[in-house]
Amino acid sequence: MIVIAIIGVLAAIAIPNFRRSREMARQNKCFEFSSLLSRTAELYSIERKQYPAAIEDLAPFLSGNRIPLCPIDGKYEWVKGTEEGLPNGKKVFCSQHGCATATWGA
Ligand SMILES: [Zn+2]
Repeated sequence: MIVIAIIGVLAAIAIPNFRRSREMARQNKCFEFSSLLSRTAELYSIERKQYPAAIEDLAPFLSGNRIPLCPIDGKYEWVKGTEEGLPNGKKVFCSQHGCATATWGA
């Protein structure tokens, strides 16, 4: 009986920590993908002399010709970045997690 109670207490502590860790891992993966897309946009601009109009235009530059997907089904899109001091820079924005730190464009 005591052993079962101890296991219950440990589970009550461990499960919220596990969920928090899992969510942090998914968010970090999403930011990694956002950053990858931003850097790929720079590569695109070097090669094609203009920035891509849509995220999908980056597919030929990525492994497997695929755009990476947010781990919890967020959609990536470009947004004009004005809130962090770069008035014309664009950012990759995930509808679930928010903006990546990387900026690009003019
Ligand atoms: Zn996301």
